[in-house]
Amino acid sequence: MSTIHDNIAKVRTRIREAAQASGRDPHGVQLLAVSKTKPAAALRAAFAAGQRDFGENYLQEALAKQAELADLELTWHFIGPIQSNKTKPLAEHFAWVHSVDRLKIAERLSAQRPAELPPLNICLQVNVSLEPSKSGCSPAELPALAAAVAALPNLRLRGLMAIPEPTADVSAQRAAFARLHQLKDSLPLPLDTLSMGMSDDLEAAIAEGATWVRIGSALFGARDYPQTSSARDAR
Ligand SMILES: *Cc1c(COP(=O)(O)O)cnc(C)c1O
Repeated sequence: MSTIHDNIAKVRTRIREAAQASGRDPHGVQLLAVSKTKPAAALRAAFAAGQRDFGENYLQEALAKQAELADLELTWHFIGPIQSNKTKPLAEHFAWVHSVDRLKIAERLSAQRPAELPPLNICLQVNVSLEPSKSGCSPAELPALAAAVAALPNLRLRGLMAIPEPTADVSAQRAAFARLHQLKDSLPLPLDTLSMGMSDDLEAAIAEGATWVRIGSALFGARDYPQTSSARDAR
């Protein structure tokens, strides 16, 4: 587990250098550790290295880890596809949901958020690459969706999230992230969050204004099974 400690240090250095390279304050970029498929022991090792925010994609897996790690003060983020019949545990057990892409989901999260908890922090996922099979609302749908979500009582709309089409071309990476940034700025809402950038493109995301980078494999190593839709559905 000492490699997790080293990996966190390396990723924090990448974040700091990327922020400095674009004249940004490194504190304006937060590290979300994406721990899907990884055992609770790996999260415990990351916690020991100072990591507090964890992102999970699969509800049952996340709830099991939350129970195993109940002795730690962690902040849980949900970043995976959301089924409308699974919103209640999301509303009850997470501080953030980054992957809201339709109003029905947001309405259910707001209605099901327990009164004793603070508002649930929400990012709207936008399909900036316009891939037909991808989750995320279209840029055209975003203004109406954002206005409706911002009006819900138990949610706090924080900003936008995207998973652009993977590419090794840094200028294409930056163009997709820049699009998300422009969409955020085009909304007449006080949004402070851009959730964008993963292990292979965090530098481009930070250059274009990311406030959360969601990092999995660079912290925890390669995942044990491929992230196919069948692997997702099996959970
Ligand atoms: C898995 C995942 C990540 C992390 O990806 P890495 O390439 O392993 O850093 C980030 N965001 C989402 C939504 C993911 O599903």
